Amino acid sequence: MRTKVDNEICMGCGICETLAPKVFQLGDKPYAIVLLDPVPEEFWEVTRQAADECPEQAISIEA
Ligand code: SF4
Repeated sequence: MRTKVDNEICMGCGICETLAPKVFQLGDKPYAIVLLDPVPEEFWEVTRQAADECPEQAISIEA
């Protein structure tokens, strides 16, 4: 699995980082970055959950 954050629409709310801190990080940027590419299978579920719960639908997933 691969995942991406659209920097143009992410508002930096941090929900993805809270749900999947090994996969997403806010850091000092105003938007989330992806830490693991590709995403290891053990994090697929939380990555999907983050994508579902992102209020801006900024997270896309490629199987
Ligand atoms: Fe950005 Fe969505 Fe993550 Fe919030 S949940 S920081 S809007 S990618």
